[in-house]
Amino acid sequence: MRTMQGTGVSAGIAIGEIRVLDTAEHAVERRVVDDPQAEVERFRAARDTAVDQLKRLRDKTAAEFGEGKAELFDTHQLMLQDPDYVESIEDLITQSKVNAEFAVNSTAEQFAAMFAAMDNSYMQARAADVKDVSRRVINVLEGRGVGADQDDGGSRIILAEDLAPSETVQLDRSKVLGFVTAKGSANSHTAILARTMGLPAIIGIGDAFNPEDDGHVAVIDGASGMVFVDPDEATLTEYQGKKAKYEEHLRLLQELKGKPTETKDGQRVRLYANIGRPSDVTAVLANDAEGIGLFRSEFLYLESEDYPTEEFQFEAYKEVAQKMGDRLVVIRTLDIGADKQVGYFNLEHESNPALGYRAIRICLTRPEIFKVQLRALLRASVYGNIAIMLPMITSVQEVRDAKKILEEVKDELRGEHIDFNEHIQVGIMIETPASVIMADELAAEVDFFSIGTNDLTQYTLACDRQNPNLGRFADPHSPAVLRMIRMATEAAHRHNIWCGICGELGADLSLTDTFLEIGLDELSVSPTSVLPLRDAIRNH
Ligand code: PEP
Ligand code: MG
Repeated sequence: MRTMQGTGVSAGIAIGEIRVLDTAEHAVERRVVDDPQAEVERFRAARDTAVDQLKRLRDKTAAEFGEGKAELFDTHQLMLQDPDYVESIEDLITQSKVNAEFAVNSTAEQFAAMFAAMDNSYMQARAADVKDVSRRVINVLEGRGVGADQDDGGSRIILAEDLAPSETVQLDRSKVLGFVTAKGSANSHTAILARTMGLPAIIGIGDAFNPEDDGHVAVIDGASGMVFVDPDEATLTEYQGKKAKYEEHLRLLQELKGKPTETKDGQRVRLYANIGRPSDVTAVLANDAEGIGLFRSEFLYLESEDYPTEEFQFEAYKEVAQKMGDRLVVIRTLDIGADKQVGYFNLEHESNPALGYRAIRICLTRPEIFKVQLRALLRASVYGNIAIMLPMITSVQEVRDAKKILEEVKDELRGEHIDFNEHIQVGIMIETPASVIMADELAAEVDFFSIGTNDLTQYTLACDRQNPNLGRFADPHSPAVLRMIRMATEAAHRHNIWCGICGELGADLSLTDTFLEIGLDELSVSPTSVLPLRDAIRNH
Protein backbone atom coordinates (compact mmCIF):
# COMPACT_ATOMS: atom_id res chain seq x y z
CA MET A 1 0.00 0.00 0.00
CA ARG A 2 1.22 3.52 -0.82
CA THR A 3 -0.24 6.51 1.00
CA MET A 4 -0.29 10.04 -0.41
CA GLN A 5 -1.52 13.27 1.11
CA GLY A 6 -3.06 15.97 -1.07
CA THR A 7 -5.65 18.67 -0.45
CA GLY A 8 -9.25 17.50 -0.43
CA VAL A 9 -11.37 19.88 -2.50
CA SER A 10 -14.61 17.92 -2.85
CA ALA A 11 -15.86 15.59 -0.11
CA GLY A 12 -16.75 11.94 -0.52
CA ILE A 13 -14.97 8.60 -0.71
CA ALA A 14 -14.25 6.68 -3.89
CA ILE A 15 -12.85 3.17 -4.17
CA GLY A 16 -11.90 1.90 -7.60
CA GLU A 17 -9.33 1.46 -10.32
CA ILE A 18 -7.07 4.33 -11.35
CA ARG A 19 -6.99 5.68 -14.90
CA VAL A 20 -4.01 7.91 -15.57
CA LEU A 21 -4.87 10.69 -18.01
CA ASP A 22 -1.99 11.77 -20.13
CA THR A 23 -2.59 15.50 -20.19
CA ALA A 24 0.96 16.80 -19.84
CA GLU A 25 2.71 18.37 -22.83
CA HIS A 26 5.80 16.36 -23.71
CA ALA A 27 8.83 17.87 -25.32
CA VAL A 28 9.51 16.27 -28.70
CA GLU A 29 13.16 15.38 -29.31
CA ARG A 30 14.95 15.86 -32.61
CA ARG A 31 17.00 12.83 -33.67
CA VAL A 32 18.93 12.06 -36.82
CA VAL A 33 17.82 8.84 -38.51
CA ASP A 34 19.96 6.58 -40.72
CA ASP A 35 17.11 5.18 -42.75
CA PRO A 36 14.64 7.95 -43.65
CA GLN A 37 12.51 5.60 -45.75
CA ALA A 38 11.97 3.32 -42.75
CA GLU A 39 11.07 6.42 -40.72
CA VAL A 40 8.49 7.46 -43.34
CA GLU A 41 6.97 3.98 -43.05
CA ARG A 42 6.93 4.33 -39.26
CA PHE A 43 5.06 7.65 -39.64
CA ARG A 44 2.55 6.10 -42.09
CA ALA A 45 1.80 3.20 -39.75
CA ALA A 46 1.30 5.58 -36.80
CA ARG A 47 -0.91 7.83 -38.89
CA ASP A 48 -3.08 4.83 -39.88
CA THR A 49 -3.41 3.76 -36.25
CA ALA A 50 -4.43 7.31 -35.30
CA VAL A 51 -7.06 7.33 -38.08
CA ASP A 52 -8.44 4.01 -36.76
CA GLN A 53 -8.61 5.45 -33.24
CA LEU A 54 -10.49 8.46 -34.58
CA LYS A 55 -12.95 6.24 -36.44
CA ARG A 56 -13.74 4.36 -33.22
CA LEU A 57 -14.02 7.60 -31.28
CA ARG A 58 -16.31 9.00 -33.95
CA ASP A 59 -18.70 6.04 -33.79
CA LYS A 60 -18.73 6.03 -30.00
CA THR A 61 -19.41 9.77 -29.84
CA ALA A 62 -22.14 9.55 -32.50
CA ALA A 63 -23.86 6.76 -30.54
CA GLU A 64 -23.64 8.58 -27.20
CA PHE A 65 -23.99 12.25 -28.11
CA GLY A 66 -25.34 12.34 -31.66
CA GLU A 67 -23.87 12.98 -35.10
CA GLY A 68 -23.29 16.70 -34.45
CA LYS A 69 -20.71 16.08 -31.74
CA ALA A 70 -19.05 13.33 -33.80
CA GLU A 71 -18.30 15.56 -36.79
CA LEU A 72 -15.12 16.84 -35.20
CA PHE A 73 -13.57 13.39 -35.44
CA ASP A 74 -14.36 13.29 -39.16
CA THR A 75 -12.51 16.59 -39.55
CA HIS A 76 -9.59 15.16 -37.59
CA GLN A 77 -9.40 12.10 -39.84
CA LEU A 78 -9.41 14.29 -42.93
CA MET A 79 -6.62 16.41 -41.51
CA LEU A 80 -4.41 13.35 -41.04
CA GLN A 81 -5.02 12.41 -44.66
CA ASP A 82 -4.50 15.89 -46.07
CA PRO A 83 -1.86 15.62 -48.87
CA ASP A 84 -0.12 18.91 -47.92
CA TYR A 85 0.17 17.88 -44.30
CA VAL A 86 1.46 14.39 -45.14
CA GLU A 87 3.86 15.70 -47.77
CA SER A 88 5.30 18.26 -45.41
CA ILE A 89 6.03 15.58 -42.80
CA GLU A 90 7.50 13.09 -45.26
CA ASP A 91 9.67 15.73 -46.95
CA LEU A 92 11.05 16.79 -43.61
CA ILE A 93 11.93 13.20 -42.72
CA THR A 94 13.63 12.46 -46.04
CA GLN A 95 15.34 15.79 -46.61
CA SER A 96 16.48 16.59 -43.07
CA LYS A 97 16.83 12.93 -41.95
CA VAL A 98 14.88 13.60 -38.76
CA ASN A 99 12.72 11.31 -36.66
CA ALA A 100 8.99 11.08 -37.40
CA GLU A 101 7.93 12.60 -34.03
CA PHE A 102 9.96 15.72 -34.74
CA ALA A 103 8.66 16.02 -38.31
CA VAL A 104 5.03 15.70 -37.16
CA ASN A 105 5.52 18.24 -34.39
CA SER A 106 7.25 20.79 -36.66
CA THR A 107 4.58 20.42 -39.32
CA ALA A 108 1.84 20.81 -36.70
CA GLU A 109 3.41 24.03 -35.42
CA GLN A 110 3.76 25.39 -38.93
CA PHE A 111 0.18 24.54 -39.96
CA ALA A 112 -1.21 25.83 -36.66
CA ALA A 113 0.57 29.16 -37.14
CA MET A 114 -0.77 29.36 -40.69
CA PHE A 115 -4.37 28.69 -39.55
CA ALA A 116 -4.08 31.14 -36.65
CA ALA A 117 -2.99 33.92 -39.02
CA MET A 118 -6.07 33.54 -41.25
CA ASP A 119 -8.85 36.11 -41.25
CA ASN A 120 -11.65 33.65 -40.96
CA SER A 121 -12.54 32.60 -37.41
CA TYR A 122 -13.50 29.08 -38.53
CA MET A 123 -10.05 28.52 -40.01
CA GLN A 124 -8.36 30.10 -36.98
CA ALA A 125 -10.08 27.55 -34.77
CA ARG A 126 -8.49 24.73 -36.81
CA ALA A 127 -5.08 25.64 -35.31
CA ALA A 128 -5.98 23.77 -32.12
CA ASP A 129 -7.25 20.80 -34.15
CA VAL A 130 -4.10 20.31 -36.17
CA LYS A 131 -2.09 20.31 -32.94
CA ASP A 132 -4.50 17.88 -31.37
CA VAL A 133 -4.36 15.31 -34.21
CA SER A 134 -0.60 15.64 -34.47
CA ARG A 135 -0.29 14.99 -30.73
CA ARG A 136 -2.32 11.82 -31.31
CA VAL A 137 0.13 10.62 -33.97
CA ILE A 138 3.11 11.46 -31.75
CA ASN A 139 1.54 9.52 -28.88
CA VAL A 140 1.20 6.49 -31.13
CA LEU A 141 4.80 6.87 -32.32
CA GLU A 142 5.97 7.05 -28.72
CA GLY A 143 3.79 4.15 -27.64
CA ARG A 144 1.82 6.35 -25.27
CA GLY A 145 -1.87 5.67 -24.69
CA VAL A 146 -4.52 8.28 -25.19
CA GLY A 147 -6.96 8.02 -22.28
CA ALA A 148 -10.46 7.64 -23.60
CA ASP A 149 -9.46 5.41 -26.50
CA GLN A 150 -8.59 2.57 -24.18
CA ASP A 151 -12.01 2.78 -22.60
CA ASP A 152 -13.55 -0.51 -21.56
CA GLY A 153 -16.69 1.06 -20.17
CA GLY A 154 -15.82 0.78 -16.45
CA SER A 155 -15.77 3.66 -13.94
CA ARG A 156 -12.40 4.95 -12.80
CA ILE A 157 -10.64 7.30 -10.43
CA ILE A 158 -8.94 9.82 -12.70
CA LEU A 159 -5.30 10.55 -11.91
CA ALA A 160 -3.59 13.37 -13.84
CA GLU A 161 -0.74 15.86 -13.56
CA ASP A 162 -3.28 18.62 -13.93
CA LEU A 163 -6.69 19.05 -15.53
CA ALA A 164 -7.74 22.13 -17.46
CA PRO A 165 -11.45 22.96 -17.21
CA SER A 166 -11.78 22.06 -20.90
CA GLU A 167 -10.33 18.61 -20.21
CA THR A 168 -12.58 18.09 -17.20
CA VAL A 169 -15.75 18.96 -19.09
CA GLN A 170 -14.86 16.55 -21.86
CA LEU A 171 -14.64 13.57 -19.50
CA ASP A 172 -17.52 11.14 -19.57
CA ARG A 173 -18.92 11.91 -16.14
CA SER A 174 -20.84 8.68 -15.87
CA LYS A 175 -17.49 6.86 -15.79
CA VAL A 176 -15.64 9.02 -13.28
CA LEU A 177 -15.55 8.04 -9.59
CA GLY A 178 -13.31 10.90 -8.51
CA PHE A 179 -10.23 12.98 -9.37
CA VAL A 180 -6.68 13.16 -8.05
CA THR A 181 -4.23 15.66 -9.52
CA ALA A 182 -0.58 16.43 -8.88
CA LYS A 183 -1.10 20.16 -9.31
CA GLY A 184 -4.22 22.35 -9.06
CA SER A 185 -5.71 24.70 -6.51
CA ALA A 186 -8.86 24.59 -4.40
CA ASN A 187 -10.58 27.40 -6.28
CA SER A 188 -9.64 26.22 -9.74
CA HIS A 189 -12.56 25.52 -12.02
CA THR A 190 -11.69 21.84 -12.05
CA ALA A 191 -12.20 21.69 -8.27
CA ILE A 192 -15.46 23.63 -8.65
CA LEU A 193 -16.62 21.20 -11.32
CA ALA A 194 -15.88 18.24 -9.05
CA ARG A 195 -18.03 19.82 -6.35
CA THR A 196 -20.81 20.49 -8.85
CA MET A 197 -20.66 16.88 -9.96
CA GLY A 198 -20.58 15.70 -6.33
CA LEU A 199 -17.40 13.71 -7.00
CA PRO A 200 -14.62 13.28 -4.43
CA ALA A 201 -11.54 15.21 -5.56
CA ILE A 202 -8.02 15.73 -4.30
CA ILE A 203 -5.44 18.11 -5.69
CA GLY A 204 -1.77 18.79 -5.04
CA ILE A 205 -0.33 15.32 -4.45
CA GLY A 206 2.80 16.73 -6.14
CA ASP A 207 5.74 14.39 -6.65
CA ALA A 208 3.77 11.43 -5.35
CA PHE A 209 2.07 11.40 -8.77
CA ASN A 210 3.10 8.21 -10.53
CA PRO A 211 1.77 7.35 -14.00
CA GLU A 212 2.47 3.69 -13.26
CA ASP A 213 -0.44 3.65 -10.83
CA ASP A 214 -2.66 3.22 -13.89
CA GLY A 215 -4.83 0.14 -13.40
CA HIS A 216 -4.13 -0.13 -9.65
CA VAL A 217 -6.92 0.02 -7.08
CA ALA A 218 -7.10 3.12 -4.90
CA VAL A 219 -9.13 4.60 -2.09
CA ILE A 220 -9.51 8.39 -2.08
CA ASP A 221 -11.01 10.56 0.63
CA GLY A 222 -12.02 13.96 -0.74
CA ALA A 223 -12.49 15.41 2.76
CA SER A 224 -9.08 14.57 4.25
CA GLY A 225 -7.11 14.54 0.98
CA MET A 226 -5.78 11.01 1.62
CA VAL A 227 -5.06 8.63 -1.27
CA PHE A 228 -4.20 4.95 -0.74
CA VAL A 229 -2.91 3.01 -3.73
CA ASP A 230 -3.20 -0.79 -3.45
CA PRO A 231 -4.93 -0.46 -0.06
CA ASP A 232 -4.44 -3.27 2.42
CA GLU A 233 -7.40 -5.20 3.77
CA ALA A 234 -7.70 -3.09 6.95
CA THR A 235 -7.70 0.24 5.05
CA LEU A 236 -10.19 -1.05 2.54
CA THR A 237 -12.57 -2.17 5.30
CA GLU A 238 -12.11 1.10 7.20
CA TYR A 239 -12.92 3.21 4.14
CA GLN A 240 -15.82 1.03 3.03
CA GLY A 241 -17.26 1.80 6.49
CA LYS A 242 -16.55 5.54 6.14
CA LYS A 243 -18.11 5.56 2.69
CA ALA A 244 -21.29 3.93 4.01
CA LYS A 245 -21.40 6.47 6.88
CA TYR A 246 -20.95 9.39 4.49
CA GLU A 247 -23.73 8.07 2.29
CA GLU A 248 -25.95 7.78 5.35
CA HIS A 249 -25.16 11.41 6.22
CA LEU A 250 -26.19 12.44 2.70
CA ARG A 251 -29.37 10.43 3.08
CA LEU A 252 -30.24 12.20 6.33
CA LEU A 253 -29.74 15.58 4.69
CA GLN A 254 -32.42 14.59 2.18
CA GLU A 255 -34.94 15.09 4.98
CA LEU A 256 -34.34 18.83 4.68
CA LYS A 257 -35.82 18.85 1.20
CA GLY A 258 -38.88 21.03 1.00
CA LYS A 259 -38.09 22.74 4.34
CA PRO A 260 -37.61 26.53 4.34
CA THR A 261 -34.13 28.03 4.50
CA GLU A 262 -34.78 30.09 7.59
CA THR A 263 -32.97 30.69 10.86
CA LYS A 264 -34.62 29.93 14.19
CA ASP A 265 -35.49 33.62 14.57
CA GLY A 266 -37.09 33.85 11.14
CA GLN A 267 -34.34 35.31 8.89
CA ARG A 268 -34.82 33.94 5.37
CA VAL A 269 -31.98 33.44 2.90
CA ARG A 270 -32.52 32.37 -0.69
CA LEU A 271 -30.47 29.22 -1.22
CA TYR A 272 -29.51 28.73 -4.85
CA ALA A 273 -27.10 26.47 -6.73
CA ASN A 274 -24.30 26.97 -9.26
CA ILE A 275 -24.17 25.03 -12.52
CA GLY A 276 -21.92 24.76 -15.58
CA ARG A 277 -24.14 22.92 -18.04
CA PRO A 278 -27.83 22.12 -18.52
CA SER A 279 -27.48 18.54 -17.27
CA ASP A 280 -26.42 19.90 -13.84
CA VAL A 281 -30.04 20.94 -13.28
CA THR A 282 -30.76 17.34 -12.26
CA ALA A 283 -28.43 17.81 -9.26
CA VAL A 284 -29.98 21.24 -8.53
CA LEU A 285 -33.46 19.73 -8.33
CA ALA A 286 -32.28 16.63 -6.47
CA ASN A 287 -30.77 18.88 -3.80
CA ASP A 288 -33.81 21.14 -3.67
CA ALA A 289 -32.08 24.43 -4.50
CA GLU A 290 -34.50 27.35 -4.68
CA GLY A 291 -33.00 28.70 -7.88
CA ILE A 292 -29.78 28.90 -9.88
CA GLY A 293 -27.57 31.75 -8.73
CA LEU A 294 -24.82 31.19 -11.26
CA PHE A 295 -24.90 29.38 -14.57
CA ARG A 296 -21.31 29.60 -15.82
CA SER A 297 -22.30 29.88 -19.48
CA GLU A 298 -18.68 29.76 -20.64
CA PHE A 299 -18.72 25.99 -20.14
CA LEU A 300 -20.94 25.81 -23.24
CA TYR A 301 -18.04 27.49 -25.05
CA LEU A 302 -15.41 25.26 -23.43
CA GLU A 303 -17.22 22.14 -24.55
CA SER A 304 -17.54 23.30 -28.15
CA GLU A 305 -15.03 23.09 -30.94
CA ASP A 306 -16.15 26.39 -32.40
CA TYR A 307 -18.23 29.41 -31.34
CA PRO A 308 -21.54 27.95 -30.11
CA THR A 309 -24.38 29.16 -32.31
CA GLU A 310 -27.35 31.23 -31.13
CA GLU A 311 -29.60 28.19 -31.62
CA PHE A 312 -27.37 25.88 -29.60
CA GLN A 313 -27.20 28.39 -26.73
CA PHE A 314 -30.92 29.16 -26.92
CA GLU A 315 -31.74 25.45 -26.53
CA ALA A 316 -29.38 25.16 -23.53
CA TYR A 317 -30.78 28.23 -21.71
CA LYS A 318 -34.35 27.28 -22.57
CA GLU A 319 -33.85 23.76 -21.21
CA VAL A 320 -32.55 25.11 -17.89
CA ALA A 321 -35.26 27.78 -17.63
CA GLN A 322 -38.02 25.29 -18.37
CA LYS A 323 -36.74 22.71 -15.92
CA MET A 324 -36.51 25.34 -13.17
CA GLY A 325 -40.08 26.59 -13.79
CA ASP A 326 -40.68 29.89 -12.01
CA ARG A 327 -37.50 29.64 -9.95
CA LEU A 328 -34.87 32.24 -10.81
CA VAL A 329 -32.03 31.22 -13.15
CA VAL A 330 -29.12 33.70 -13.16
CA ILE A 331 -27.10 33.17 -16.31
CA ARG A 332 -23.69 34.76 -16.33
CA THR A 333 -22.53 35.97 -19.69
CA LEU A 334 -19.36 34.58 -21.16
CA ASP A 335 -16.43 34.60 -18.70
CA ILE A 336 -13.74 33.19 -20.95
CA GLY A 337 -10.02 33.90 -20.51
CA ALA A 338 -7.63 33.44 -17.56
CA ASP A 339 -7.72 29.70 -16.73
CA LYS A 340 -10.69 29.12 -19.06
CA GLN A 341 -8.99 29.11 -22.44
CA VAL A 342 -10.75 28.16 -25.65
CA GLY A 343 -8.60 27.50 -28.72
CA TYR A 344 -10.97 29.01 -31.29
CA PHE A 345 -10.96 32.40 -29.52
CA ASN A 346 -7.29 32.62 -30.45
CA LEU A 347 -6.50 34.74 -27.44
CA GLU A 348 -2.95 35.98 -27.41
CA HIS A 349 -0.59 34.53 -24.87
CA GLU A 350 -0.54 36.76 -21.80
CA SER A 351 2.02 36.65 -19.02
CA ASN A 352 -0.67 37.59 -16.51
CA PRO A 353 -3.95 36.24 -17.89
CA ALA A 354 -6.01 36.75 -14.70
CA LEU A 355 -5.31 40.46 -15.15
CA GLY A 356 -5.80 40.29 -18.86
CA TYR A 357 -8.24 40.07 -21.67
CA ARG A 358 -11.14 38.12 -20.19
CA ALA A 359 -14.89 38.06 -19.54
CA ILE A 360 -16.70 41.37 -20.08
CA ARG A 361 -13.57 42.81 -21.70
CA ILE A 362 -13.88 40.29 -24.53
CA CYS A 363 -17.64 40.85 -24.79
CA LEU A 364 -17.33 44.63 -25.06
CA THR A 365 -14.56 44.53 -27.65
CA ARG A 366 -16.04 41.66 -29.68
CA PRO A 367 -19.74 42.58 -29.56
CA GLU A 368 -20.52 40.22 -32.44
CA ILE A 369 -19.84 37.30 -30.06
CA PHE A 370 -21.65 38.96 -27.13
CA LYS A 371 -24.74 39.68 -29.22
CA VAL A 372 -25.17 36.03 -30.22
CA GLN A 373 -25.27 35.12 -26.54
CA LEU A 374 -27.62 37.96 -25.59
CA ARG A 375 -30.05 37.04 -28.37
CA ALA A 376 -30.08 33.44 -27.15
CA LEU A 377 -30.61 34.56 -23.53
CA LEU A 378 -33.43 36.95 -24.37
CA ARG A 379 -35.20 34.44 -26.59
CA ALA A 380 -34.97 31.83 -23.81
CA SER A 381 -36.28 34.31 -21.23
CA VAL A 382 -39.92 33.62 -22.14
CA TYR A 383 -39.55 29.98 -21.07
CA GLY A 384 -38.86 30.64 -17.39
CA ASN A 385 -37.40 33.16 -14.99
CA ILE A 386 -34.01 34.13 -16.42
CA ALA A 387 -31.74 36.95 -15.18
CA ILE A 388 -28.56 38.12 -16.90
CA MET A 389 -25.34 38.64 -14.94
CA LEU A 390 -22.21 40.41 -16.16
CA PRO A 391 -18.80 39.19 -14.92
CA MET A 392 -15.57 41.03 -13.99
CA ILE A 393 -17.08 44.49 -13.82
CA THR A 394 -14.71 47.27 -12.73
CA SER A 395 -16.58 50.41 -13.76
CA VAL A 396 -19.97 52.03 -14.30
CA GLN A 397 -19.05 52.62 -17.95
CA GLU A 398 -18.65 48.89 -18.60
CA VAL A 399 -22.15 48.27 -17.26
CA ARG A 400 -23.60 51.06 -19.38
CA ASP A 401 -21.79 49.79 -22.48
CA ALA A 402 -23.04 46.25 -21.89
CA LYS A 403 -26.59 47.45 -21.29
CA LYS A 404 -26.43 49.51 -24.48
CA ILE A 405 -25.54 46.37 -26.45
CA LEU A 406 -28.36 44.54 -24.66
CA GLU A 407 -30.80 47.29 -25.71
CA GLU A 408 -29.62 47.01 -29.33
CA VAL A 409 -30.27 43.28 -29.24
CA LYS A 410 -33.72 43.85 -27.71
CA ASP A 411 -34.51 46.29 -30.53
CA GLU A 412 -33.41 43.73 -33.12
CA LEU A 413 -35.70 41.13 -31.59
CA ARG A 414 -38.64 43.55 -31.44
CA GLY A 415 -38.03 44.29 -35.12
CA GLU A 416 -38.19 40.58 -35.85
CA HIS A 417 -41.33 40.16 -33.67
CA ILE A 418 -39.53 37.71 -31.39
CA ASP A 419 -40.80 37.58 -27.81
CA PHE A 420 -38.60 38.07 -24.76
CA ASN A 421 -39.07 39.15 -21.17
CA GLU A 422 -39.08 42.97 -21.34
CA HIS A 423 -38.40 43.13 -17.57
CA ILE A 424 -35.48 40.75 -17.48
CA GLN A 425 -33.26 41.47 -14.45
CA VAL A 426 -29.68 42.50 -15.15
CA GLY A 427 -27.10 42.13 -12.41
CA ILE A 428 -23.36 42.16 -12.02
CA MET A 429 -20.73 40.10 -10.33
CA ILE A 430 -18.84 41.85 -7.58
CA GLU A 431 -15.46 40.21 -7.92
CA THR A 432 -13.00 43.06 -8.31
CA PRO A 433 -11.99 45.56 -5.62
CA ALA A 434 -12.97 48.33 -8.05
CA SER A 435 -16.55 47.10 -8.12
CA VAL A 436 -16.72 47.17 -4.32
CA ILE A 437 -15.33 50.69 -4.18
CA MET A 438 -17.86 51.76 -6.82
CA ALA A 439 -20.70 49.66 -5.37
CA ASP A 440 -23.05 52.60 -4.71
CA GLU A 441 -22.78 53.91 -8.25
CA LEU A 442 -23.03 50.40 -9.71
CA ALA A 443 -26.06 49.52 -7.57
CA ALA A 444 -27.90 52.43 -9.15
CA GLU A 445 -27.44 50.79 -12.58
CA VAL A 446 -28.48 47.17 -11.95
CA ASP A 447 -31.05 44.87 -10.36
CA PHE A 448 -28.74 42.76 -8.21
CA PHE A 449 -25.19 42.00 -7.07
CA SER A 450 -23.65 38.57 -6.77
CA ILE A 451 -20.28 38.44 -5.05
CA GLY A 452 -17.70 36.22 -6.72
CA THR A 453 -15.50 35.49 -3.74
CA ASN A 454 -13.08 33.34 -5.75
CA ASP A 455 -11.91 36.25 -7.86
CA LEU A 456 -12.58 38.85 -5.18
CA THR A 457 -10.14 37.01 -2.90
CA GLN A 458 -7.59 36.72 -5.70
CA TYR A 459 -7.73 40.40 -6.63
CA THR A 460 -8.08 41.79 -3.10
CA LEU A 461 -5.18 39.79 -1.67
CA ALA A 462 -3.09 39.82 -4.87
CA CYS A 463 -2.97 36.01 -4.76
CA ASP A 464 -3.30 34.01 -7.97
CA ARG A 465 -6.19 31.59 -7.37
CA GLN A 466 -4.44 28.97 -9.51
CA ASN A 467 -1.27 29.03 -7.44
CA PRO A 468 -1.28 26.17 -4.90
CA ASN A 469 1.75 27.51 -3.00
CA LEU A 470 0.26 30.64 -1.46
CA GLY A 471 -1.30 28.86 1.52
CA ARG A 472 -2.28 31.24 4.31
CA PHE A 473 -1.67 34.32 2.14
CA ALA A 474 -4.64 33.42 -0.06
CA ASP A 475 -7.05 33.27 2.89
CA PRO A 476 -10.62 34.12 1.85
CA HIS A 477 -11.40 34.58 5.57
CA SER A 478 -9.12 37.61 5.55
CA PRO A 479 -10.85 40.63 7.14
CA ALA A 480 -10.12 42.51 3.92
CA VAL A 481 -12.30 40.10 1.92
CA LEU A 482 -15.03 39.96 4.56
CA ARG A 483 -15.13 43.75 4.76
CA MET A 484 -15.47 43.93 0.97
CA ILE A 485 -18.46 41.56 1.19
CA ARG A 486 -20.05 43.75 3.85
CA MET A 487 -19.42 46.95 1.86
CA ALA A 488 -20.98 45.53 -1.30
CA THR A 489 -24.03 44.19 0.57
CA GLU A 490 -24.63 47.47 2.38
CA ALA A 491 -24.35 49.45 -0.85
CA ALA A 492 -26.85 47.10 -2.51
CA HIS A 493 -29.31 47.55 0.33
CA ARG A 494 -28.95 51.33 0.27
CA HIS A 495 -30.18 51.12 -3.32
CA ASN A 496 -32.88 48.52 -2.61
CA ILE A 497 -31.37 45.75 -4.69
CA TRP A 498 -30.53 42.24 -3.53
CA CYS A 499 -27.03 40.95 -2.93
CA GLY A 500 -25.84 37.35 -2.89
CA ILE A 501 -22.64 35.32 -2.97
CA CYS A 502 -21.96 32.85 -5.76
CA GLY A 503 -18.26 32.22 -5.06
CA GLU A 504 -17.13 29.13 -3.21
CA LEU A 505 -17.04 30.96 0.12
CA GLY A 506 -20.84 30.92 0.19
CA ALA A 507 -20.70 27.22 1.12
CA ASP A 508 -18.16 27.71 3.92
CA LEU A 509 -20.17 26.73 6.98
CA SER A 510 -17.73 28.45 9.33
CA LEU A 511 -18.84 31.77 7.79
CA THR A 512 -22.58 31.14 7.63
CA ASP A 513 -23.20 33.12 10.84
CA THR A 514 -21.13 36.03 9.49
CA PHE A 515 -23.07 36.07 6.21
CA LEU A 516 -26.38 36.05 8.08
CA GLU A 517 -25.20 38.92 10.24
CA ILE A 518 -24.03 40.92 7.19
CA GLY A 519 -27.52 40.35 5.77
CA LEU A 520 -26.79 38.62 2.47
CA ASP A 521 -30.05 37.90 0.66
CA GLU A 522 -28.90 34.90 -1.30
CA LEU A 523 -26.20 32.22 -1.23
CA SER A 524 -25.49 30.20 -4.36
CA VAL A 525 -23.38 27.08 -3.88
CA SER A 526 -22.54 23.77 -5.53
CA PRO A 527 -25.66 21.57 -5.66
CA THR A 528 -24.13 19.15 -3.15
CA SER A 529 -23.60 21.99 -0.64
CA VAL A 530 -27.25 23.14 -0.68
CA LEU A 531 -28.63 20.81 1.99
CA PRO A 532 -25.65 21.08 4.41
CA LEU A 533 -26.00 24.87 4.16
CA ARG A 534 -29.76 24.74 4.72
CA ASP A 535 -29.04 22.64 7.80
CA ALA A 536 -26.56 25.26 9.10
CA ILE A 537 -28.96 28.17 8.48
CA ARG A 538 -31.88 26.38 10.13
CA ASN A 539 -29.71 25.74 13.18
CA HIS A 540 -28.53 29.34 13.44
C1 PEP B 1 -15.99 33.92 -8.53
O1 PEP B 1 -15.03 34.51 -9.04
O2 PEP B 1 -16.16 33.82 -7.31
C2 PEP B 1 -16.99 33.28 -9.39
C3 PEP B 1 -18.11 32.81 -8.89
O3 PEP B 1 -16.72 33.13 -10.71
P1 PEP B 1 -15.63 32.10 -11.27
O4 PEP B 1 -15.23 31.17 -10.15
O5 PEP B 1 -16.26 31.37 -12.39
O6 PEP B 1 -14.51 32.99 -11.70
MG1 MG C 1 -15.00 34.97 -11.14
